[in-house]
Amino acid sequence: MLKPTQDQIIDIYKGLAECVKFHGHLCPGLALGYKSSILAMHRLKEKKVSDEEIIGIVENDSCFVDAVQVITGCTFGKGNIFFKDYGKMALTLLSRNTKRGLRVALKSGVLTQPQNMEIFSLMDKVLSGNASMEEKRLFEQFQLERAVRVLKSEPEEIFSVREVEMELPPSAKIMKSEICGGCGEPVMVKKLVEINGSNLCIPCAQKREFR
Ligand SMILES: [Zn+2]
Ligand SMILES: [Zn+2]
Repeated sequence: MLKPTQDQIIDIYKGLAECVKFHGHLCPGLALGYKSSILAMHRLKEKKVSDEEIIGIVENDSCFVDAVQVITGCTFGKGNIFFKDYGKMALTLLSRNTKRGLRVALKSGVLTQPQNMEIFSLMDKVLSGNASMEEKRLFEQFQLERAVRVLKSEPEEIFSVREVEMELPPSAKIMKSEICGGCGEPVMVKKLVEINGSNLCIPCAQKREFR
């Protein structure tokens, strides 16, 4: 391990602070998204992008993704991040500059060590709305501790990393809009549906179908 300089340490904390500000709280998922992004960018020798130089693929749509967007600059707004609904804590980064790609995925057992088992019964209670104030507070404390454990760990200990080869998706294009024949609102052309000769937005098309 290289010893980071003072400036690098400050950058690390700034990046994390930005993630928390964007996401709203510090939690294990955010910490994993943050760590996996840093690891993938470091290995690919890439920096946060302002355009589409790198492409991200995430395999969940939870807290994780917010940190990925802040750290890598791959965002849904820019169209250089893609969501695959696999329910995995995994990030793939592809570089348009070097044509290299890496998939970083959470190893098993990282968030589920035996000392953590208590958290799952607490989590059930919190999610079902049956937790007391005290249990909620305890759950938050647990989550914070798990997040800190993720942040402190060596990235290679918690993630498996492999090179991937993948077709790069075409650059996101700014799409033309046309007016929906039902509601009159402008709609991206590729999202219009033709029904009986009129171009409709999806909700208008669905209303026609059910008539
Ligand atoms: Zn969260
Ligand atoms: Zn419409």
